Amino acid sequence: MRRLPVYFLIDVSESMAGDPIEQVQEGMAAIIRELRKDPYALETVWVSVVAFAGQAKTLATLQEIISFYPPRFPLGSGTSLSKGLGHLMYELRKNIVATTYDEKGDWKPIVFLFTDGVPTDNSSELRAAIAEWKRNWQRKVNLVAISFGDNTDSRLLGELTENVMLFKDTDSESYKAFFKWVTASIQTSSKAVDKNPEGIELAGADGETVSKIDLAKGDRQPPATDPFIVLLGKCQQTKQAYVIKYKKHVFEDASGDIGLDYRLVGAYKVDDTYFELADEQGSNLKISTNKLIGFPPCPCCGNPYGIAFDGSCGKIHCVGTEKMNTCPWCGNRAEYSAGGDGFDVNRAKG
Ligand SMILES: [Zn+2]
Ligand SMILES: [Zn+2]
Repeated sequence: MRRLPVYFLIDVSESMAGDPIEQVQEGMAAIIRELRKDPYALETVWVSVVAFAGQAKTLATLQEIISFYPPRFPLGSGTSLSKGLGHLMYELRKNIVATTYDEKGDWKPIVFLFTDGVPTDNSSELRAAIAEWKRNWQRKVNLVAISFGDNTDSRLLGELTENVMLFKDTDSESYKAFFKWVTASIQTSSKAVDKNPEGIELAGADGETVSKIDLAKGDRQPPATDPFIVLLGKCQQTKQAYVIKYKKHVFEDASGDIGLDYRLVGAYKVDDTYFELADEQGSNLKISTNKLIGFPPCPCCGNPYGIAFDGSCGKIHCVGTEKMNTCPWCGNRAEYSAGGDGFDVNRAKG
């Protein structure tokens, strides 16, 4: 039986923290559940999942639907599209069976790329990865790039494929509709492989939740200010890391001027994969706490203050009501007093 390989290349940068990553997690499980009920898909479709943040990692190697168990999605720091693409190309080289004179190989693989932001890569590495994609894979693979929300660079995604879609990730219903659309696209493609071995049969996009981006217009630009700010903290009690996510908020102040601040979305525990998937350079971005609205408790131990700043190492940790505290990053012991004025804290790349 000829295989139809389907790859998911998924951005797990910290801006996906909270609801988006949980929705992706559920959505992948829903896709697999539905495909298992479909005789065409069950016979032909093989699935693999690659996650990328500052680094990339295979979460599930290419395998049949029947044995596929949806992986747990980690979070990582940064958005290195070059690392993601590079790792995808490595998986394709390793797994795809080419057609030869003697043997019919795999059907043309389908790749779904999900991303919610602008790459934080070094641009020459990104150019090199895109060039390699164009040279070796663009004609051999059907790539569908899906922008989660409108904070991506569609012109850049348009260099990889003509199938660039916008997904309006507004609520859990929209995620359900979106993953149904992905499932339907895989099903129609698996049914049509005999008649249409080169093409991909994307399901009809409703235009509401999923719509095709008109690349010819070419004027969609990512926003000038980041839609999310993410801080990294560590729990003083459990030593576990967590991220605190804020969303951009634009408002008109009392004097009619346009203001900008960041409102708390939530605080979420992360595991060691976060550091494994972080890029080498780290972040030197700063944000003043004056711009942040809402301070969460620690999501690991429940300490009332999730954002305390250690002046010795410049990192964030949680504090309770004790006077003396030990920084879980550097071991510095200090008396903590609630500062009245804002201070600059390091932020992750997103
Ligand atoms: Zn804590
Ligand atoms: Zn410290």
